[in-house]
Amino acid sequence: MNPNVSIAILLAVLSNASLTADTGCGPRRVAFSFDDAPTEDSVIMSGEERSQRIVDALQEGGVEEAIFFAVSSRIDPATIPRMHAYAEAGHVIASHSHTHPNLHNVGSKAFLANVGTAHEILSGLPGFQPYFRFPYLNEGATIEERDAVRAGLKALGYRAGYVTIDNYDFYIDQLLREAREDGRAIDLEAVGALYVEMILGAAVHYDDAACTWLGRSPAHVLLLHENDVAALFLPALITGLKSAGWKVITASEAYADPIAELVPDTLFLGQGQVAALAAVAGADKSELRHEGESTEVLRARFESSASESE
Ligand SMILES: [Zn+2]
Repeated sequence: MNPNVSIAILLAVLSNASLTADTGCGPRRVAFSFDDAPTEDSVIMSGEERSQRIVDALQEGGVEEAIFFAVSSRIDPATIPRMHAYAEAGHVIASHSHTHPNLHNVGSKAFLANVGTAHEILSGLPGFQPYFRFPYLNEGATIEERDAVRAGLKALGYRAGYVTIDNYDFYIDQLLREAREDGRAIDLEAVGALYVEMILGAAVHYDDAACTWLGRSPAHVLLLHENDVAALFLPALITGLKSAGWKVITASEAYADPIAELVPDTLFLGQGQVAALAAVAGADKSELRHEGESTEVLRARFESSASESE
């Protein structure tokens, strides 16, 4: 990718001044998390190149410690060097289950068995720390299911690998991949601008919710995936966050925030810890969703700006 692209992306995003507004709720801090590692080769790049780009971008952006939530069934002799590369670069390896099951479909018993299998594989990896992130952020369809899984995870020694900044980065990645698979000409700069703007907007949205409903800005955990858009646009995203006044912190610092000790008594858990706590505090759930968490919105934005006419 042309190195000038990230600067162009940044200028486009920062022209939206509302992204840099100060809330008065404390300094904005954010840690990076990546789900689904190690992901498979795509039409855009190999998994190996994807991991290398992410490691390089984190290092160049001064991100000392991110956290990678691994799907252990994807770890084999060909992919394990990627997990080692993350650990060697100082990042945390954590669990995202063995086969990425949806708790709401499989039930608590099968889900916990899956988590146990993952634990046997992941706990021996360098850099492993016992944090667990739910696939699809689905933490239980009923109180009984939620509490059974919470108890099972606790018994294995896991802490909650929650997110505070939910977003649809995976959908922009899907749109880009589909366009490439169809052989369409794509304006990568526009895709990068959409990615950065969408994530910065989500970050401000969830920080505003925290400010309103928790009375303070917590140390945030940004949900990302180990995907091609991260590999391509992470440098622009890191620069964009910093330029908008965010301080990049380690995953350990983020999970040491007081909100890590809170266990929200709600089933509204699919948009992360801040949204769950805000809902418990009385927020209108429909207003807790960021506008970018919509496949319709993102598809329209992608089609209007990213598609190059031929
Ligand atoms: Zn996942």
